[in-house]
This record gives sequence, structure tokens and C-alpha cells, in this order.
Amino acid sequence: MSKKKYNFGAGPCILPDSVLNSASDAVKDYNRTGLSILEISHRSSEFEKIINECEDLVRELLKVPADYSILFLQGGASTQFSMVPMCLMQPHKGAVYLDTGYFSLKAIKEARMFGPVQVVASSKDRDYDYIPVGYHIPRGSAYFHCTSNNSIEGTEIFDFPETDVPIVCDMSSDIFSREINVADFGLIYAGAQKNMGPAGLTLVIVKKALLKGIQNLIPSMSDYRIYNDHNSMFNTPPLFSIYVAMLNLRRLKEMGGIKQAEETNIAKAKLLYDAIDSSECFYGLADKADRSRMNITFKMYNREREPEFLNFAESRGVVGIGGFGSVGGFRASLYNAMDMLGVEFLVQCMSDFIHKDLF
Ligand code: PLP
Repeated sequence: MSKKKYNFGAGPCILPDSVLNSASDAVKDYNRTGLSILEISHRSSEFEKIINECEDLVRELLKVPADYSILFLQGGASTQFSMVPMCLMQPHKGAVYLDTGYFSLKAIKEARMFGPVQVVASSKDRDYDYIPVGYHIPRGSAYFHCTSNNSIEGTEIFDFPETDVPIVCDMSSDIFSREINVADFGLIYAGAQKNMGPAGLTLVIVKKALLKGIQNLIPSMSDYRIYNDHNSMFNTPPLFSIYVAMLNLRRLKEMGGIKQAEETNIAKAKLLYDAIDSSECFYGLADKADRSRMNITFKMYNREREPEFLNFAESRGVVGIGGFGSVGGFRASLYNAMDMLGVEFLVQCMSDFIHKDLF
């Protein structure tokens, strides 16, 4: 199988051909068991091996310290918007949020249902084209929440604040794309469907000490402690998503791990940003220092010609570059599965579009 299009879509789930091939074989017959991967029991030794390998790979690739638990949940990152405050906020201990765009706002809205929320800084004043700095996180807050990569606005946090308050980070769209120091965070969550695997799986990495501190009465399906105590199998886990994520992480490891992926991601983003910056036709939306390596947002000076470029790109097999509704313009997502050849193809496509009317 070979995919015929260059998919720059923001999701869900862009995966390399090799992973898709193995996944489709397993749907027909998993490991010569005579059963589809969709049919095997989550209580079977086969699945136990899969979930354990997936957890081991997350721990190895992200260098997760031993005092952190790795949990596999469902409900997407959006469920974490409420699960985090439900578990970690207390009536007398509010939380602090950094507002960097669409998804942080969603997290803030949910958190307000559970206790006091202070928004310490926001980049709303400039349509979220930068990451605020220089804010103060009050000591004694339950946690500080931020979104490491703003998938819609195309900004990314490269320096996290130094604070005694546990940092809770939504890493949905840049986890596994760059090296991070897990010990800097109290809790990391991510919908799997960008760099990890198919939608339906949510990864949570949480410091065990934070789990011990949970005092609230919480419904089981929203309680991190329950997932921790049941090896992420309190109820039926998303087996297929976990299996495909495991295949994808295996591949990431074979390809040189996160260090290698980060180098490639830096080079891919540079190639595209350089093409945008040197063109007289396109311009980038985010502040240069805060530009996301995963989601590159840009527009045309002549906005009326944007639909024409979209059609031109699509006629060449470049899909998914339309910007998010409220932002408009273009967004090229360069997740791990997008290789350098794909970015070169897009850059060529932009250049051909610019030059096509000159001849
Ligand atoms: N947070 C970020 C940064 C995202 O990019 C997304 C989805 O794209 C979400 C949260 C929402 O994730 P989900 O659809 O898994 O709930």
C-alpha cells in the first residue's frame, strides 16, 4: 500500500505507510492467532504484551522517570480539560491557566466549573500570534496549566516557566516531536492522534505524588487513581488504538528516537518557514520566536487568491492545508509522519504557483 497524497492535515492521525500496513495485517489476522486484533480480549496475554510494550516505549522514548505513572485513557484531550481540575483542584486551592488560544480557552472554560481559575496571561490581544512571558504563578496554586503547541494558531512553547507549582501541560500536538524533561511537569496529557497513533486513545503521564494528593470524590471514569490501580484497564481500553500507537512508537524508536525526530522536525519547519519568509506572496502568522514546528500557519498578502492556491495545491496531491475556520489562510501540519520530501514538494508547489503567471 502506498498513500498517493501529501497530507498536511492537522489530524486526526497521520501515520507512516509501514505502520498502516502492519495495522491492516493485524486487522485480518493478529500475529497468526486466527483472530483479528479487533477481536482479541483485553484480558488476554496477547493484549497484555501490547499494552506493556506501549507503556515501555513511552517510558523509554520520553525518558519518563520511575516516579511517574503512564496511563492510557479515552475521551480525547477534551476530557482532560475537565478531568484535570476534577482531580487536582480543591475548593480552597484554585488553578492558574495560560491562555494561548483555542484549546487553552476550552480548558479554561471547563476548569471554571470546578473551582477558582486565574488566567495569568493571554495572547488574545494579538489573535494569539505569540506566547506570553513574564507572568507570575502564585505559590500554593493547585497547578499551572498550559498548552505546549497551539495547533490552530501555530505557536509553540519552547521555555516552560520555573515554578514550585505543578505544571499540567496539554501536549496533544507536539508530544513525541521533541525532547522534553518530564520531571519539569506534574501531569502531561495528549490526545494520541497527532504523533502517537489513532484517535480514541489519550496518553496521561502523571507524577505519582500528585495522584497521592487527590482528595476529591470523583466518578471512577474521571479518576486518575482508578486507571493507575487497574493498569489502564478499569474498563475496556481502546485496544486497536493502543496497538497502532505501539507500532508507531516502535517505528519512532527504530528511526532513532525523539532526538532524531526533533532534528528532522526542526529542518522541515525551517524549510517551510524560509520559503514563506523569502516569498513575496506568503507571510507567516506567528511571532518568529514562538513559531510552531508542528503547525505552520500562513496567509497570502492577496487574500483573494487563497482559494486559487488551495485548488492548485490540491490538483498536485497536496491536501489538508486550509487554515482553521476562525484563522483562515493556510496551516501545514508537519507531524513526525510527514517526511522532508513532502515538505520539499509543498515548497515547490508554492514556488510553482508564484511563478506560473510570470510565463
Ligand atoms: N488540545 C490540542 C492542543 C489539540 O490540538 C486538540 C485537537 O486537535 C485538542 C486539545 C482536542 O483533542 P481531542 O479532539 O482529542 O479532544
